[in-house]
Amino acid sequence: MPEAQRAFGAREEKFMPGEFIDVRVGAKAATNAKLAAKLAEICPVSIFVASSEGVRIDESNLDECVLCDLCLEAAPKGQIKIVKLYE
Ligand code: SF4
Repeated sequence: MPEAQRAFGAREEKFMPGEFIDVRVGAKAATNAKLAAKLAEICPVSIFVASSEGVRIDESNLDECVLCDLCLEAAPKGQIKIVKLYE
């Protein structure tokens, strides 16, 4: 394996998506299509993906979270949790 490819592979292993931030959505909010659309619209880094069945998290964007709290303000209290996996 070429050196550059090996180095990239090692970096990929070290920095997995969601290594620093996890976003958890409660069951009620997760299946609310209207809320899903709102979350997809307001999150500046596209962590929420809306469908007619509700919302799912795009894990590849988790670590882009800027901790703006817009999703927390849009959802019913306690239905979304932003979890810092560092400190
Ligand atoms: S805190 Fe902001 S950036 Fe992070 S998931 Fe919520 S809306 Fe997106």
